[in-house]
Amino acid sequence: MKITAFIRSLAAFIFLLTISSSDYKILSQEIPDNIRILLEKLSPLSYERGNRELIYQYSIGDLSRLSDKDTELVIKELSKRGIGVITFWKQAEAFERGIEEGIRIARLQENLGLKVAVDATDLLYGFYDKTDFTAHIDNEGRTFYDSSFAGHWMGCPFTLQERIPVIRSRIIAYSEAYQAAGVNIDIVTADWEIDGPHEWNEAWVNSKKCMTCCKNIDNIQDFYVFQSKLRSLRSKLLEICYTRPILERHPKALITNYGTYPNDGWRYWYDYFESPQIDLPNIKDQKAIYRPWYNEFTETGFTMAMPVVYTWYPIYNSYPEYTSDYRWFYNMLKVGTNAGKSTPSEIPIATFFHWHTTAPPEKQDLNVKQMSRHSYQELLWHLLLRGHDIFFSWCRKEEIETEMTLLQEVYNNSLNYNDWLQSGRPVLFEVPAKESSVVSGVKLNNRVLVRRTDFTDNKKAVKCIIDDKIIMVPYKPGECQIITIE
Ligand SMILES: [Zn+2]
Repeated sequence: MKITAFIRSLAAFIFLLTISSSDYKILSQEIPDNIRILLEKLSPLSYERGNRELIYQYSIGDLSRLSDKDTELVIKELSKRGIGVITFWKQAEAFERGIEEGIRIARLQENLGLKVAVDATDLLYGFYDKTDFTAHIDNEGRTFYDSSFAGHWMGCPFTLQERIPVIRSRIIAYSEAYQAAGVNIDIVTADWEIDGPHEWNEAWVNSKKCMTCCKNIDNIQDFYVFQSKLRSLRSKLLEICYTRPILERHPKALITNYGTYPNDGWRYWYDYFESPQIDLPNIKDQKAIYRPWYNEFTETGFTMAMPVVYTWYPIYNSYPEYTSDYRWFYNMLKVGTNAGKSTPSEIPIATFFHWHTTAPPEKQDLNVKQMSRHSYQELLWHLLLRGHDIFFSWCRKEEIETEMTLLQEVYNNSLNYNDWLQSGRPVLFEVPAKESSVVSGVKLNNRVLVRRTDFTDNKKAVKCIIDDKIIMVPYKPGECQIITIE
């Protein structure tokens, strides 16, 4: 057993000794497995968290089986480890109970001085209700839908007006109930993806066959016109049904959705249900194909950005000119940098991360090599220094210990630089196309906090330009350095 692993186990053991035997029984039997794993395997943070936001893991929520006392204990112990609890808002038969449970958790979080974080995914699904009312219509009056999104039912984007009051009323009910109970809503996230207007896969082909779509888009033959129209519609739906109802009642809430962030007009990644389309406008980079991306963020009214930085399986074979680790690193840095450099400083960036190779096919190419833990953690550092603020984790149950250990180690060590990360200005955004040294940094007054990661054996100082001044960054693997700008 490695020394660090031994210390972690020892710390977990001491934690279990420090709570009474009855608490231990509840903790071992009643709490969900994923939470128990984190309490047992992750050590408490070793540095002061200050007002840095916690890490959120997207399965950490639902404490409804625990008493108030035990719930409080779990929330508190998780927060000592740097981990927050998300309340998952529920619709249908779980609606009323969901509101009650949400308020219960919010009160406990507020009493502990923590933010109230919720997820609204369930309430937002679905704008398409799978009826003829929300379907496309062909020139013979027959309804049809698009099944090219991993088999999901995707209909006609111009039929959703009637769905607005339905979805909006759910969000209003939760927001109002929290307001009436005198508790805040601080962070609202959602994983609303395969629903509503969408321009990829067979969407354009299908819209061109639909009478309603053709009537609503003047120049539907132009992909950019089609994309702008659909993304704008999508953003408006979110703004009306999701953002505005919450902000009207909780004006300071940070609101966002998976994969929505200010960008440079290009998207450098594909979700598991999307595939490259070379007949559409694109940029090629080795074997990667980048897509034009609409800047939807402003129209959603969101107050937080949410990029997705995952080890998507196809990344590896997209960059054959690079060594194994740099294939992953390059793409993920490109994705993260896009959000970092494009997002105004007053908008926090909460990023979804995933380290295990993401969404591999059933029959895997044995040459695809997992990104090293070392390079992944370096990437996390670089993105912190490029403006990313909050770590969100999505993973499979069996991955949770590793995923959260990797995130927590970097997060814990980064607490040493809270002043820099919270008050400094990210100044280095280069993503080297030639595999070499990657440098990121934040500037505070006349100094800069930098990190350099090397993918070649170059040990010489590297030249960087910050606000027209040259700085030389020495070789110092695995460490942050503070350099004065002369
Ligand atoms: Zn249509």
